[in-house]
Amino acid sequence: MIEVLVASHNGHKVNELKKIMDHPEIRLISLFDIAEHDDVIEDGSSFLDNAAIKAKYFANKHHMITISDDSGLVVEALDGRPGIYSARYSGGTDHDNNLKILKEMEDMENRSAYFISVIVLCYPNGVTKSYEGRAHGYIGREEKGHNGFGYDSIFYAPEYQKTFAELDNSLKNRISHRANALLKLKEDLHEIIDYK
Ligand code: IMP
Repeated sequence: MIEVLVASHNGHKVNELKKIMDHPEIRLISLFDIAEHDDVIEDGSSFLDNAAIKAKYFANKHHMITISDDSGLVVEALDGRPGIYSARYSGGTDHDNNLKILKEMEDMENRSAYFISVIVLCYPNGVTKSYEGRAHGYIGREEKGHNGFGYDSIFYAPEYQKTFAELDNSLKNRISHRANALLKLKEDLHEIIDYK
């Protein structure tokens, strides 16, 4: 059994990662599990930079294989915003972020958007690998649904005509950007399990 540290303080994300990464040879440990409260400043200029900053910091500090996800919403008609600023777009809550996007897009016809997740895997020796996943969809006209977090209630999955917040968790975990990135990471699971 190999332990892998998940470098996130976002409980929703940690739970999603734990469900998607479920494997008999791997035990995912969260920062909560080891009472790790350091907040790493994500001052990179891309999702990849920010994910790498977090994964490297905690892999180095705890000498553990560490995975970190940096994710966000990219809206075409907003020139890619909120992008890497997704978590703090309005300076308020998730609900405030959603209202800000809906207001900015009030008169816009082009509603195309995607969620992106970049996962960085960092070994204790500092070697990193990255995996990117996307989920394409569109932005609705109002918030809908109560599952999930962040922008889920304004982001529609076209194939279901429902927002991510209206889908049940297991379905979201199959089609999400994080699921797509993790599918790629899973191809390297043997490498993680064999790591000495
Ligand atoms: P991070 O913790 O710096 O990666 O920030 C990611 C931010 O992007 C979150 O706070 C959410 O606002 C948004 N986000 C990322 N993934 C999702 C998702 O699956 N659903 C809804 N919002 C998400």
